[in-house]
Amino acid sequence: MPAPVLCASCGSRRAALRRPKTGQALCRECFVAAFEAEVHGTVTSARLFQPGETVAIGASGGKDSTVLAHVLRLLNERHGYGLRLLLLSVDEGIAGYRDDSLAAVRRNQGRLGLPLHVVSYQELYGWSMDRIVRHVGLKNNCTFCGVFRRQALDRGAALLGADKIATGHNADDIAETVLMNFLRGDVGRLRRCADILTGSEGQLPRCKPLKHAYEKEIVLYAYFQGLDYFSTECVYSPNAYRGHTRALLKDLEATRPSTVADLVHSGERLAVREDVRMPTQGTCQRCGYLSSQPLCKACLLLEGLNRGLPRLGIGKPSRLQKALLGSEKPETSLQEEEGPRQAKRGPRAIDF
Ligand code: SF4
Ligand code: ZN
Repeated sequence: MPAPVLCASCGSRRAALRRPKTGQALCRECFVAAFEAEVHGTVTSARLFQPGETVAIGASGGKDSTVLAHVLRLLNERHGYGLRLLLLSVDEGIAGYRDDSLAAVRRNQGRLGLPLHVVSYQELYGWSMDRIVRHVGLKNNCTFCGVFRRQALDRGAALLGADKIATGHNADDIAETVLMNFLRGDVGRLRRCADILTGSEGQLPRCKPLKHAYEKEIVLYAYFQGLDYFSTECVYSPNAYRGHTRALLKDLEATRPSTVADLVHSGERLAVREDVRMPTQGTCQRCGYLSSQPLCKACLLLEGLNRGLPRLGIGKPSRLQKALLGSEKPETSLQEEEGPRQAKRGPRAIDF
């Protein structure tokens, strides 16, 4: 019988895993310690938080945000970050998915002892995702959901007096988004999607403390720590384009394990040529949210839903926005404009 492999870190305990990120054979205790030390390293090297800040942790009940809440609470105590931590959940109104995952958030809240606040699409927009899907079908549902969630988190965090939002995006999510934005030539998003801290100009800052944590290691950490999370996919998933990008990334990773870290690195290093025009940020004329157009995406999508023209906010919106703001066109021509657009557009991905 071959001798048991010993942990490469402590040299005394039996190795329990081979780290997906480094290939090192580690025991359970040394892996947990290394994972926490790396998140602490990310937090301190990027100066993500200042003492005294209130941080709203976006809590979905899934593995990433469950690990994030657990680790942040632990590091806050261990290293004296001096943060006031809160859990903030968004209820999209998806029966059989979000209600169950919110139950996991509530169970974790008890365990973590952190305050929890839930904002819902129904209360913010007057529409649940279940109802939106009944209107728009399963092609553009993630566009609505992504745009609404982004604003819902911002509004919820502002309501709680938070200084910052922390989200559970991991290295795989970021690599996937870098790849997807690159494939789509979306320079505006490509430029900022690998940033660890975003939205400082006039928007509530958002940070990603798990930016360098591999998805596989997050699952292992959750397992070793006995964390309770919800792992079922959304009933309205998958977003087709993101799904293909994810599959491509997994294939690449199978041949080259450092693909995830390499793509995150590429996203950080990519420079945009000076003559490339970037959208200028202003504020939405209706709700005051940050927007590069007169109406923000959420207001435009909502307007479409309320007018019975759900495709109104899908695709490039400027002509339609002008029509809406200045009533330059009668309603019928807006409807006419909807027709040919419907055939051309494919599904859009979630705003990140
Ligand atoms: Fe929303 Fe789409 Fe995610 Fe479901 S898969 S929660 S509809 S963004
Ligand atoms: Zn708006």
